[in-house]
Amino acid sequence: MAKYDVAVIGSGPGGYVAAIRCAQLGLKTAIIERYSTLGGTCLNVGCIPSKALLDSSEHYHQAKEQFETHGIKLEKLAVDMPQMIKRKGEVVKQTTDGIDFLMKKNKIDVLHGHGSFKSATQIEIAKEDGSKEEIEASKVIIATGSKPATLPFIKIDKKRIITSTEALELKKVPSKMVVIGGGVIGLELGSVYARLGCEVTIVEYMDSIIPTMDRSMGKELGRSMKKMGVKLLTSHKVKEVTGTSRSVTVKADDKKGKEVVLKADYCLVAVGRRPYTDNLGLENAGVKVNDRGRIEVDEHLESSTKGIFAIGDVIKGAMLAHKAEEEGILVAEYMAGQKPHINYLLIPGVVYTWPEVASVGYTEEQLKENKTPYKVGSFPFKASGRARASMDTDGVVKVLAHEETDEILGVHMCGPRAADMIAEAVVAMEFRASAEDISRMSHAHPTFTEALKEAALAATDNRALHI
Ligand code: FAD
Ligand code: NAD
Repeated sequence: MAKYDVAVIGSGPGGYVAAIRCAQLGLKTAIIERYSTLGGTCLNVGCIPSKALLDSSEHYHQAKEQFETHGIKLEKLAVDMPQMIKRKGEVVKQTTDGIDFLMKKNKIDVLHGHGSFKSATQIEIAKEDGSKEEIEASKVIIATGSKPATLPFIKIDKKRIITSTEALELKKVPSKMVVIGGGVIGLELGSVYARLGCEVTIVEYMDSIIPTMDRSMGKELGRSMKKMGVKLLTSHKVKEVTGTSRSVTVKADDKKGKEVVLKADYCLVAVGRRPYTDNLGLENAGVKVNDRGRIEVDEHLESSTKGIFAIGDVIKGAMLAHKAEEEGILVAEYMAGQKPHINYLLIPGVVYTWPEVASVGYTEEQLKENKTPYKVGSFPFKASGRARASMDTDGVVKVLAHEETDEILGVHMCGPRAADMIAEAVVAMEFRASAEDISRMSHAHPTFTEALKEAALAATDNRALHI
């Protein structure tokens, strides 16, 4: 039986990064993956393919809606869906091949098959051809990720009632789509199809889209989504979804109990994801899960069984690839005797719509709830020269700073390239900068980042210059 210092179960961004860091630290490492390609949800059916389709659809949308204003004439503009999906597949392949390369480079043994605990140190790998292999590992990292969740009364048939996985593979642009859930997946994939000409209705249970982010962001993004033609039904509770081989019917009640009936080609169910621990044999290793099915871990991400750690979507916290990566690094370094640390408050959240939404730190609602004295500085993109040049004037940057110390407590942006711009706010907050610190730094002109400087100026004694 092969023996390892560390076995990692799951090759998503949590698992493969943990494996690389373990190998870098001199630990003999194996990674187990039930699918034939590495990279997990993120690379195969999540972050990467969705961003590929978001980019393709945004190009089409711009060509259709903005090129003429830019002085560019196009004839016979059309969507070639098979080509769009093919390109997405190529992007995924290049990216997952890259992980194969990284495993070889770091001398990590890759074992394909479904891993399950026989004991706390023994793992059985059931391969696709029916054969089985067992390995022994002094330490194990569980990085088995998550799967789409559904509602008790909805049966996902993967044909008309679909999850994000199927929505990344549609053969042609549907004429109508109902999306259940106005969270990240609903808005990103809803945007893809709306831009391509599909009539998209998003049904959200809460009174705002992206309800867990700063409330002002939901309002800003909602305005842009409506401009694009997306219908938003907030405060609506879905109660029934039925499908035939060609269509779906979704019934929902508004706050007053009034029923709406929506008919469409597809219903995309995007109401969250559930931790994936199916047939993992956790009971054989004494690993406990909480009432939501997530593996319980302590501050070192060690489970109820010593030597078994868990990271990423399968434990508490935001289901984000970069959160999973940081946790993989933390566990590897902790095992190697180091004292790593993650500041969870400063893990940014991004929604890759257009405009993008990006956020770090406390929301205004959280500051109110914690009774933290704060001040707000904001700057709209319509006042940015760079944004006017590229016709990206929707959105705003909002800086929340401590009323007395001026320390930045949160930054929330809805606007062009917000996903990239939020990094500046993360750096500033890691170094506990004040709003004045950002407002005194030179930002190249003309750039979108000037909006952050202006919002910081606005938070610093209302000193914005361009509004
Ligand atoms: P996963 O990536 O889910 O990987 C787990 C792996 O473990 C899988 O490959 C699975 O096959 C394997 N596995 C499970 N059980 C076993 C077993 N018993 N034996 C062997 N292998 C097993 N996050 C972002 O930060 N940015 C984004 O833009 C973003 N976009 C997304 C878009 C979509 C459509 C979706 C669905 C998700 C998106 N996410 C995004 C979330 C992100 O994909 C997850 O947070 C991330 O993949 C979690 O990483 P992980 O390593 O914990 O698990
Ligand atoms: P989510 O939690 O972001 O959104 C789910 C939404 O569905 C919520 O707004 C919720 O209020 C709503 N909802 C729940 N029950 C409902 C009901 N009965 N009727 C109507 N609405 C209902 O979940 P998601 O969008 O499915 O995404 C899953 C996970 O994947 C998220 O945790 C997210 O972090 C991750 N993800 C991240 C990115 C990114 O970082 N850009 C992109 C996609 C997915």
